[in-house]
Amino acid sequence: MKLNRVKWFSGNLKEFDRFHAMVGLWISPDTIILDYSTVEDSLTVEHELLHYLLQAGPNDEKHPVLYFVTKCHLIEPLGPVKPRGGLETNGKASGH
Ligand SMILES: [Zn+2]
Repeated sequence: MKLNRVKWFSGNLKEFDRFHAMVGLWISPDTIILDYSTVEDSLTVEHELLHYLLQAGPNDEKHPVLYFVTKCHLIEPLGPVKPRGGLETNGKASGH
């Protein structure tokens, strides 16, 4: 996986999410879409890049704890369960 192979797009993702909360989306294998509000949000960018690097298949764990929590700290480990499993619903680490 090479980071310079990623195809980046920005758009109004929130418009397409029924919860109006999606801020980033990785589409297998190499496309990342960021909501207009998060194109400069490093946490969201890194979170989506981790999806790209892991290349999870449809039957794989979407946010494996070992990578998203333990190694990379890109998800709140004990945060409330959210519709898309964490970060995408707000894009920011809550303040602690
Ligand atoms: Zn994610």
